[in-house]
Amino acid sequence: MDTEALTGDSTTPRPRALATEAVHAGRDDLAGLGLHAVPIDLSTTYPSYDSRGEAERIDSFAATGARPDGPPVYGRLDNPTTARFETALARLEGTESAVSFATGMAALTAVLLVRASMGLRHVVAVRPLYGCSDHLLGAGLLGTEVTWTDPAGIAEAIRPDTGLVMVETPANPTLAEVDIQALAHSCGSVPLLVDSTFATPVLQRPVEDGARIVLHSATKYLGGHGDVMGGVVACDEEFAARLRQVRFATGGVLHPMAGYLLLRGLSTLPVRVRAASASAAELTRRLTADPRIARVHYPKIGGAMVSFEVYGDPHRVISAVRLITPAVSLGSVDTLIQHPASISHRIVDEGDRRAAGVGDRLLRMSVGLEDVEDLWADLCQALSDRPARTAAGNVPESRPAGR
Ligand SMILES: *Cc1c(COP(=O)(O)O)cnc(C)c1O
Repeated sequence: MDTEALTGDSTTPRPRALATEAVHAGRDDLAGLGLHAVPIDLSTTYPSYDSRGEAERIDSFAATGARPDGPPVYGRLDNPTTARFETALARLEGTESAVSFATGMAALTAVLLVRASMGLRHVVAVRPLYGCSDHLLGAGLLGTEVTWTDPAGIAEAIRPDTGLVMVETPANPTLAEVDIQALAHSCGSVPLLVDSTFATPVLQRPVEDGARIVLHSATKYLGGHGDVMGGVVACDEEFAARLRQVRFATGGVLHPMAGYLLLRGLSTLPVRVRAASASAAELTRRLTADPRIARVHYPKIGGAMVSFEVYGDPHRVISAVRLITPAVSLGSVDTLIQHPASISHRIVDEGDRRAAGVGDRLLRMSVGLEDVEDLWADLCQALSDRPARTAAGNVPESRPAGR
């Protein structure tokens, strides 16, 4: 036990637990303001009778990228409501800072532009990634160049102009995991970006394992209700400053209303992720034992995503669900299912998609907060026309799918 805990030294307060931060971080000043709910500042501009003062604020932002003191001059530079969400997310991830964006893809774009603007245009990445991230890197839309490799090949793939190593863990949609600590080690001085959208800070805090940059599609679990798009990068303040400058110049800001909803989403994040994960683990157990299912993917760290491969036609499962919603995206309070080869990973070249383990019979399910028995009943009726593995273990590949 540390002596400060024994002496109760009030200058080093005990760190607050994640569940506590989730409902308090970014809101520490509210009681002093006489408020309980977070105020929403929709201002696009901020009046000032002191243009010399404004000039100084603009110069200081251009020089440092630090959040401006006082009013933010213009809504593309900063916003007090989205800043609360950033503060809270940084606290949950254990980073100095976080910078929010209009979507997850806008966040990844800003990270790539920061590095490319320093002449570091080469990216080393591990598949699978979210379909659009794969496309953004593979198509070189931002003037970057990518080398795809597996975790063991990272050190060898790094070049003098490598600005970033990017992985997703658990990965979308196969839920493949990488050892962040080992990977961070092979990156040397090149920043490692972990897309932690599937894990959330409830299950994984990549910076503690040596990653420098954590990316979230806030559209998913952080928002949690399928009604807000956003992206956020958690990192050290030095990188955050560059990100703010790129965000100011390129304009992919998070709307203040979205910032409000995302901050509200964070307050229930630990509860939602734990409850949905318990159901996902139970569904994983049942699907694994089910002879109609060829293979189940579920990460060691847990979580609310389950992917599985069926015998026969996967499209029939999508058309047969009734309680579960057949839709792309994930992380909402309700359960969603989709066929990655048709939707989320459609944009990835077919050969690359298959090589990354995204087969044509793979279905990806985002488990929500419904009762697990209701979810199981819906899955069972949707799978009822399935060919099944025989008791002898024979695989029914040649049998027709359903009627
Ligand atoms: C959805 C998603 C993204 C992209 O986020 P948007 O908010 O849709 O732009 C990036 N990474 C992962 C893992 C995702 O699931």
